[in-house]
Amino acid sequence: MSLLDADPVPPNKIILDEYKLTNDYLPKKLPHRERQISEIVDHLKPIFQGEENIVRVAILDGPIGTGKTAVARSIGEKLREYVDKRKIPPIAYSHVNSQSFNTKFQVMRKIGKDLGLNIPRKGFSTQEVTEYIVNFLDKNQYNLFLVIDETDVLVRHPEGNNVLYTLLRLGEIYGSHRFGLALAIIFRNYTVSVEYIDKSILSSFNSRFVKFNPYTSRELENILEARIVHEKAIREEAVNDEIITMIADAVGYDPATGKGYGDARMAIKILWFAARRAEREGRNRILPEDVRDVINRGVLPTIYDREFLQRLQLHEKLLLLAVARTLMLNRERAYVSMGVVKLEYEDLCERYGIRPLGHTSIWERIQKLRTYGLIETKVDKGRTRGRTTRIQIPEQIGISKVPLDLLEKTLKELIERELS
Ligand code: ADP
Ligand code: MG
Repeated sequence: MSLLDADPVPPNKIILDEYKLTNDYLPKKLPHRERQISEIVDHLKPIFQGEENIVRVAILDGPIGTGKTAVARSIGEKLREYVDKRKIPPIAYSHVNSQSFNTKFQVMRKIGKDLGLNIPRKGFSTQEVTEYIVNFLDKNQYNLFLVIDETDVLVRHPEGNNVLYTLLRLGEIYGSHRFGLALAIIFRNYTVSVEYIDKSILSSFNSRFVKFNPYTSRELENILEARIVHEKAIREEAVNDEIITMIADAVGYDPATGKGYGDARMAIKILWFAARRAEREGRNRILPEDVRDVINRGVLPTIYDREFLQRLQLHEKLLLLAVARTLMLNRERAYVSMGVVKLEYEDLCERYGIRPLGHTSIWERIQKLRTYGLIETKVDKGRTRGRTTRIQIPEQIGISKVPLDLLEKTLKELIERELS
């Protein structure tokens, strides 16, 4: 057989389902979080069983990547499933991330949206929306499972205590409780953040404290293994045990020394990026050098997470997409000029039917993207007869920390969702 007859290399030989490696994906099983799940469910059970006239609070506390959001989501999804099968009385589930919703109106509107109510951005007061929601729950005899996520951000916000107060007392708006309210309040660092909360707000509640410790290497091994074998995110044969151990050891927390991140998101991301690297190099197996490369490049760009990108303003997203696309069209260039990026940006605006921003506003947004660490900029040095002088040449823009195709794909999805 001649070389030319060889089978073409099939695409995606390692990654079976990229979505299953992203933070949006909720795995079916959460190894090492069974105890937390049952503690929370046990405490909130009366509300899940339909008891009215009662409020219960579970406080979930632990550093980033310890599965707090995933645990709350999986409880919420399970409740929905049980309600659908009529195994339990009707209960609504709402998940509010305080990082994206930090005024009381925004919070109430998100809860409304999760309940399937269509609340316009304008035309109603916060009070009216709150009453609408309470009446809806009351009329339909729903209980409510409400998750307040990233509460550390909320309580530092000027309106934070007010929002928290309202949420905890949702059922009391008309004097008496008309529905059961189960709250899961998630903190990254409760001990520090509690200082920002008015003492009276939480004290009167029957709260249960549930701790999420950083994952050890062994625990991360099981989590990675499950993502491969059970969730089938990656082809099993492409990864051997040593690779998994290597990643788990790099990220795992050691209780004896207090060192290590213990962040499952980071471990999954290393696996993901190592798989991409191996694929890019045309291999069908992940090698230790892939893992080393990802770790050494410090490729843990949490700022490129979907949820972070999502919070950028629309025009910031469009500009970042324009930078990515321009760089993709100039494969051999690490930096492209501001002028070309601006053209691409205006193209994109036209395609999406949006009015492009003017020069000064574009410039401000580019500076902001640089401050976030999403792009790098450099000024061209102008050369005049031997002497080197800085002259006003349009700035050059680059992106060094993330694969462009991934960034492009994510931004496009987010922009299209935002505009739909
Ligand atoms: P936190 O909210 O504590 O920052 P997340 O719940 O967002 O952490 O988890 C981060 C990522 O790690 C998510 O992709 C999640 O699916 C995954 N993850 C966390 N804990 C587990 C676990 N026990 N089993 C499987 N995946 C997990
Ligand atoms: Mg979280």
